Amino acid sequence: MLPYGRQSIDDDDVRAVAEALRGDWLTTGPAVPAFEEELARWTGGVPCVSVSSGTAALHVAYAAARVGPGDDVVTTPMTFVATAATAALLGARVVFADVEPDTANLDAGAARAAVTPRTRVITAVDYAGHPADYDGLRTVAGDAGALLLGDAAHSIGSLHRGRPVGSLADLTTFSFFPTKTVTTAEGGAVAAADPALLTRAARFRNHGLVRDPAEQRHPDEGGWHQEVHAFGLNYRLPDVLCALGRSQLRRLGGFRARRAALVARYTTMLSEVPGLALPPCRPYADPSWHLYPVRVLDGRRREVYDRMRQAGIGVQVNYIPAYWHPVFADLGYRRGMCPEAEAYYAGQLSLPLYPGLSDADQDRVVETLAKILR
Ligand SMILES: *Cc1c(COP(=O)(O)O)cnc(C)c1O
Repeated sequence: MLPYGRQSIDDDDVRAVAEALRGDWLTTGPAVPAFEEELARWTGGVPCVSVSSGTAALHVAYAAARVGPGDDVVTTPMTFVATAATAALLGARVVFADVEPDTANLDAGAARAAVTPRTRVITAVDYAGHPADYDGLRTVAGDAGALLLGDAAHSIGSLHRGRPVGSLADLTTFSFFPTKTVTTAEGGAVAAADPALLTRAARFRNHGLVRDPAEQRHPDEGGWHQEVHAFGLNYRLPDVLCALGRSQLRRLGGFRARRAALVARYTTMLSEVPGLALPPCRPYADPSWHLYPVRVLDGRRREVYDRMRQAGIGVQVNYIPAYWHPVFADLGYRRGMCPEAEAYYAGQLSLPLYPGLSDADQDRVVETLAKILR
């Protein structure tokens, strides 16, 4: 089965991991700050804190934003459930606002209509790698006195008006899961320009420990002393995986280029196929494409999904609207809340897209899809 996404691991990646394995640390060692510094070169210099997954990154970012009971978090339903679940776990009420019908990104007008005085964070998702409308969303967040969070699990390396993802929101989260553009097997990161947000993120990742005597309440206890001022968790990304991430980041330019070439080929080859809507690209966006999301029209998505899979092509659906998950349904969230997201979902199908996808395999994807739809 041709997968919809797949990692690309080369000999340099293997060497980097082997070197870290033979080193002295395995977990918190020199590869951790080296990876974080390399990552900050892709965020326009905004500093980053590595964590153990994209989900951990979201949990850390909301904790750094001090999200808690009594707060609202406004976000898009067209995302992986973790974007909303991590806010709910901190006790916030998640408010789903509808998406732009073509990009499936959070609609700034819908976000504006959804904010209240309780809104602490607005979370955008750069769906498929296409940056959200950060101009519109920054204004909405600013007017609401809320922080803007970018879930950039799909969009590392993407640009918005020439500015990189990671520098567009108050907090940005990344995922390094194997299907994503850069992988550490499991891993993630949080970027934040505000030192207070960054410090809270770094502490939450490591049990909330305060090690700097200048910041401790009882610094004279002894050389061993460390303190917890706010609860945290162990979300550290090990040295071995940071070494892989650092090696992967050196290849990100190449990944971006290959993904862009595959996207251009899809768009050319599929433009004449009936019954499909292809992903748009706004003039302000220079995406690192993570997905190639088409919409199958005329209610044929399920049929096309089944027939593509029967033909050995591992298409995927990204995503069921987050509030359709029974956990949200049980909290009283009802279908119909975000009609654009539901309409988008009804036709959505992700075609295989990853750097190792050959032109010949891509041709087979297109031919199979065209045969089904013609
Ligand atoms: C993958 C993903 C996550 C979660 O990342 P993990 O590394 O799998 O925990 C969160 N949000 C979005 C939009 C994702 O695609």
